[in-house]
Amino acid sequence: MTPFSLLILPGDGIGPEVMAEVRKVIGWFEQNRGLSFEVSEDLVGGAAYDKHGKPLADATMQKAQEVDAVLLGAVGGPKYDNLDFSVKPERGLLRLRKEMDLFANLRPAQCFDALADFSSLKRDVVAGLDILIVRELTSGVYFGEPRGISDDNDPENEGGRVGVNTQRYTSGEIRRVARSAFELARKRAGRVCSMEKANVMESGILWREEVQWVHDNEYPDVELSHMYADNGAMQLVRNPRQFDVIVTDNLFGDILSDAAAMLTGSLGMLPSASLGAPMANGRPKALYEPVHGSAPDIAGQGKANPIACILSFAMCLRYSFDLGAEADMLEKAVEKVLADGLRTGDLMGPEGGKPVSTAEMGDHILAALSAQ
Ligand code: NAD
Repeated sequence: MTPFSLLILPGDGIGPEVMAEVRKVIGWFEQNRGLSFEVSEDLVGGAAYDKHGKPLADATMQKAQEVDAVLLGAVGGPKYDNLDFSVKPERGLLRLRKEMDLFANLRPAQCFDALADFSSLKRDVVAGLDILIVRELTSGVYFGEPRGISDDNDPENEGGRVGVNTQRYTSGEIRRVARSAFELARKRAGRVCSMEKANVMESGILWREEVQWVHDNEYPDVELSHMYADNGAMQLVRNPRQFDVIVTDNLFGDILSDAAAMLTGSLGMLPSASLGAPMANGRPKALYEPVHGSAPDIAGQGKANPIACILSFAMCLRYSFDLGAEADMLEKAVEKVLADGLRTGDLMGPEGGKPVSTAEMGDHILAALSAQ
């Protein structure tokens, strides 16, 4: 079997610590499930700036284009806060997303039973929650032209300036992210809810029509509903379990995915994936990364929770390599260690738990994998 090729970019702060635990998990799957990975490692963010004077070397970018999937830790830190905008650590991440054309950002919100009390909502509203938000990532109002701040000569405009951004979507941009959402729904509970503001925005009307077109012509087996994004926000905090897959644009997705994330508790638990068009081998271009940043306040102390990064690897197994059974195994192992009360500092609630370090959490997850 041809090995799956992975480029690992641990990055800065806690990135290398949490990624070390992912490498242990990769090793476990090689030894115990007959999988074969060809892993290379490189620099991104501040670490790349220190060596190359820029946050992503061209050779690293090239490698990212060639592998089956990229796994990224986190970038940034106070040491780099005063760098010029063009070489800030985040620019490395943005370059990867842009040049790989990763248009579908997948943000699961899954509530592990043992952590239901961490949610800002009541346990009975979030227990068993498992939803997936698919956010369009490369177009919409964050990129549309014209944009900018200019002066106008209107004497009635106090201050005299105008700020403009443009919400612009093409049919093709909407259809491709809709296809991603329908494909994902087929691997889940088979339901997609599309969110926009078709009541007040023309781009919302086009969004609704194009998603419906993709559904009717290509995915009639998936259940599709439409919702205005403001109602969607309300429904997410009222009854989030009504959703399976939500597909929405860049701006609404930015907000709705952060709101959904907090339904499940700690930042140290949240994985993500960004997918692009299929490559020659049929696999989508893909970047997997935890939602959290480089957490400089706890870096180098063995306190970081590696679960967000490990669950990002579970998404890689599922979405890049079609290894759903292995992804399920890994998620079950995480569920087991949480049910056993093992807790990194960020998960330590009023009810306590058994404190563990980053590496110990990784070891317990391997043990839970072996016990299945
Ligand atoms: P952060 O996510 O790094 O940290 C926020 C808080 O959550 C901190 O108290 C941190 O200790 C805690 N935390 C985060 N991840 C954790 C984990 N796995 N385990 C335990 N605790 C965890 O956000 P921030 O403090 O706003 O930013 C710090 C740096 O990270 C900045 O330089 C920022 O630009 C960068 N950042 C990078 C990314 C990314 O790489 N994708 C995302 C957000 C922020």
